[in-house]
Amino acid sequence: MTRAAFQALYDAAGRLVAETPALRDFGTWPSMPAFRKRKPTVIPAIQLITARPDPPLCSPAQSAFLAALRTAAPFARWYRSYKRAQVGRDFLDRYGWFELLGPSGHFRSDAARAYVAYWGDGLVYPDHAHAAEEIYYVVAGGADFASDGVPSATLAPGDTRLHGSWQSHAMTTTTSDILTLVLWRGEGLAGKPMLLETTP
Ligand code: ZN
Repeated sequence: MTRAAFQALYDAAGRLVAETPALRDFGTWPSMPAFRKRKPTVIPAIQLITARPDPPLCSPAQSAFLAALRTAAPFARWYRSYKRAQVGRDFLDRYGWFELLGPSGHFRSDAARAYVAYWGDGLVYPDHAHAAEEIYYVVAGGADFASDGVPSATLAPGDTRLHGSWQSHAMTTTTSDILTLVLWRGEGLAGKPMLLETTP
C-alpha cells in the first residue's frame, strides 16, 4: 500500500518532468530507482495537504500527483529545517518537506534529487542559499519568489523558478498555500539535504 502510493507519486512526478521543458532540461529523471522504506515522521502540515482539494484547471499529471500525495503523505519521512526560535511556531505548523528521490530519499539515486515541499498561506520563507542548483515547480497554489540579481516573480501552478549555486533566495506565500516539486543538481547533490544549509 505504502509502496504503491509512493510509486504513483513518483510516476506522476516523472510525468510532470516529462511535460515541463524547464524540468526536462534540468537533468535526467531516473526511470526505475529502487524504493526504500523510510520511517515516517508526523508533522501538522500532513493534514493540510491531505485535506487540500485540487486547484481549478489542474492538469491530469498535477491531479495524479496530488492524489498520490494525499495517500503517501502520512507515510513520508517529513523534515522541517528550522527551529521555532528562527521562524516561529505557526511556520513550523504549516510547512514541511520530504526527499522523494535522492541519496536519502524514498527512491534511491546518487545522480538526481527531488523533494516535495509545502508551505501554508501567509508565510515568509527567509533568504537562504545552498551549493546545489535548484528548480521549483509549482504543483498547486502559488507564491512570490525573490532571488539575488534577478527580478522577483509570482508563480502559479505549472510555473518554474531556477536558483543558481549559492544564489540567495526567499519565498513568500500570500493568499494561497504552495505545494512544490523541487529538483536539485550539481555539487550539493551528495551533500546535506534541502534547506539544511544556510547563507554562508
Ligand atoms: Zn533553495
